[in-house]
Amino acid sequence: MRLCSIAVVALFFSLWVTQAFGQQQTPQLGLTSASSPAPSPTPIVFSAQTLADLKRLQEAALRSDYAYRQVAHLANNVGPRLSGSAQAAKAVEYVASELKAIGCEVQLEKVMVPHWVRGEETAALVQFPGQAENTTQKIVLTALGASVATPPEGLTSEVFAVKNFDELKALPREKVAGKIVLFNYPFDKQMAAEGRAGEAYGEAVVYRSDGPSAAARLRAVACLIRSVGGADYRLPHTGLTDYANDAPKIPAAAVTAEDADLIADLARQGLVKMKLVLTPQTLPEVESANVIGDIKGTEHPEQVIIVSGHLDSWDLGTGAIDDGAGVAVSMEAANLIQKLHLKPKRTIRVIAWMNEENGSAGSKQYAKDHGKENHFAAMETDNGAGHPIGIHIKGKPEVKKMLAPVAAVLQESGAGTLDLVEHCGADIEPLEKAGVPSFSPIQDSRFYFNYHHTAADTLDKIVPKELAENSVVVAVLAYALANMEQPLPR
Ligand SMILES: [Zn+2]
Repeated sequence: MRLCSIAVVALFFSLWVTQAFGQQQTPQLGLTSASSPAPSPTPIVFSAQTLADLKRLQEAALRSDYAYRQVAHLANNVGPRLSGSAQAAKAVEYVASELKAIGCEVQLEKVMVPHWVRGEETAALVQFPGQAENTTQKIVLTALGASVATPPEGLTSEVFAVKNFDELKALPREKVAGKIVLFNYPFDKQMAAEGRAGEAYGEAVVYRSDGPSAAARLRAVACLIRSVGGADYRLPHTGLTDYANDAPKIPAAAVTAEDADLIADLARQGLVKMKLVLTPQTLPEVESANVIGDIKGTEHPEQVIIVSGHLDSWDLGTGAIDDGAGVAVSMEAANLIQKLHLKPKRTIRVIAWMNEENGSAGSKQYAKDHGKENHFAAMETDNGAGHPIGIHIKGKPEVKKMLAPVAAVLQESGAGTLDLVEHCGADIEPLEKAGVPSFSPIQDSRFYFNYHHTAADTLDKIVPKELAENSVVVAVLAYALANMEQPLPR
């Protein structure tokens, strides 16, 4: 098993290398000689000065520990930053003051956010085949974000498992009514190991978002899902559930992969009853903010390049990889541009988004307030802090060609791949949909979903060198976009 996955990974690495060499050999648009009598001269995309500055940024980012110090402060000193919490408010204050200190023009832009707080969360199997007298089996779980509560003393009911939506739909309503439904849909760890963790997540996460309402439509009294993630340490993964309007809201929690297998195994053998206590609360909305820090462009200040990550996090861990890292590398891009006294021609706008995890209120508010502005490009880092191998591009295929000289610079730190994709980031999605060319680092996310939304999303999961490599991608791309000699095609 182990050798097999290493071989697959090796294959992927060799593919990346091949791709990267291919890119290095393509003629650099930025270096077209003015004297060559080409019939239709290729327009210069990057000046020699810009390309030299990109190299300086790359070297400086690899030497700097600024990004690491930022994520360390957010994770260790501020802590978990769920929307509406005192820590989220403290994080807003902190990032604003840091961005001011490096010379950005800073705005706090008001966002009303949901305020959901976790309560008690316990579960035990109180009846099951082969049970020893006067015993129960503890079940490890965590409430899903937005979940409603059980009665304070809990509820006790039969629990049974289905593999997927089809299996649930095939059941008669009386089989489901009054029961606790468990969706035991596994996260595909092999797919993640092969470098397609995002796809594996996408396949499984629909049970977290839509499972509770699907169960409620058949009159289930509570819904459990198998945690969406890859680790084997009996850790539950939280995350938002999305109650539909046409179904009653029922309590919803994620059990660990191990506990999901346990329940499914016992339920196959006979009647299993669970006592479930979940006491989360939804409090009134709270005023919070997106933190916005601009370095104004010297030639086209009205043209904006967004460089961003989200400041809020789930509450179980300390939000280091999701997404303190994304905020930190975005801050680092601005920090390095200022430190090297570089002058971006277009405006570079660092945004620390609020409420990505449970509502995207920050993203929606920004789109409302700034939708009519001239956004040249948008970037978001929200896939952890693993080694980056290049850049995802949501845009016209020509964008990829234009950025070949940037890829050649990035290849020196192992990040020379340019890949066209359909989607780059949750917070920049409204801009993507409006046709703004969008970007995100391609990060090694083979291990990301082992920790994602768990108590183990903590600072130690970040390798400082890999974080710095992400800073390289973000800083180099941001400055390249700001100083391109041509507009990006739309
Ligand atoms: Zn995130």
